[in-house]
Amino acid sequence: MINTQSHPRLTATLAAVAVGLVLAAWTAVSPGLVVWLKENVEPLVANTSLWRNSGTFFQSQWEKVYDWYGGNAYLLGTLGSTNVYGLTFVVLNSLYLYMDITGRPAALVKYKIQPDVNTPPVEPAILRKVALQLPITALVTFVAICLAWPILMWRGCDFGRELPSLWNVLVDFPALMLGEEAGFYFSHRILHHPYLYKRIHKKHHELTAPVSIAAPYAYPVESVFSGVLPPLLGPLVTGCHVSTIWLFGCYGLYITVTDHSGYDLPFNVRSPEFHDFHHSRFNSNFGVYGLLDGLLGTDSAYRQYKAAARHKTPNGITPPSNSIPNGKKRK
Ligand SMILES: [Zn+2]
Ligand SMILES: [Zn+2]
Repeated sequence: MINTQSHPRLTATLAAVAVGLVLAAWTAVSPGLVVWLKENVEPLVANTSLWRNSGTFFQSQWEKVYDWYGGNAYLLGTLGSTNVYGLTFVVLNSLYLYMDITGRPAALVKYKIQPDVNTPPVEPAILRKVALQLPITALVTFVAICLAWPILMWRGCDFGRELPSLWNVLVDFPALMLGEEAGFYFSHRILHHPYLYKRIHKKHHELTAPVSIAAPYAYPVESVFSGVLPPLLGPLVTGCHVSTIWLFGCYGLYITVTDHSGYDLPFNVRSPEFHDFHHSRFNSNFGVYGLLDGLLGTDSAYRQYKAAARHKTPNGITPPSNSIPNGKKRK
């Protein structure tokens, strides 16, 4: 077995090749998997009113959006994506921003992961500084999407008026997640090279206890390579429908806003502790889902820390900072 500590570059290269092979294999078996699901699982639900009504509802809503952009694949991908992601970002941030500005409600603020750093209400100067970066990030993201979208059109992604089946979405999602995990892990780990860290990534790490609107707080080059491109790797491999790309993009925004929120709220379906730990320790937890960190051993500090035990029970109602009685403070 290869020692991941003594051969970090070799193991990282092998992991990248392995991810590429898994993605290729998954894409190859996907059509057969969709057929199997349609033949074996769909008959179990096809006669329910929920299945029929939801299918009609989503299809009719999609047709309105599709017609609004004139069925133009480029407009759907660029203007459509920017509108959907922008709206999603605002909605997802609203509760966290309210808590950071007002320090209320106390019933939720008590779930702050690092209660002694950036304590709510957060210093207005900090919020103002990260908020002023948002228009720049939005503009850079829009330009990057405008440049990247022709590649997805060339790939043959589906921009049709008909929505994909639920089975197509379910089968595409693991590939999209794996593509994002690989793209983000490796671009992020490269950004932690001392030369690049000092010049680029240090800005994103200014907040050792992040707040939700600081999720996209980074230099434009980082926003493109670590923010815009990784979620598009999966669509490039699978050629999935544009609505699946949007759904996955909104899911990714939920993850990144939650990860930077600084609150481990009891109703979160995902614990933000993993990336919060990255902000507090810098050299651990580079990926999105923890898969490559686990394979390459870059989460060992996190696993040793008591937070790992909390991460397994993210939906408890005990505030995370109280649930580690013997936990040491992070440095
Ligand atoms: Zn971050
Ligand atoms: Zn980092």
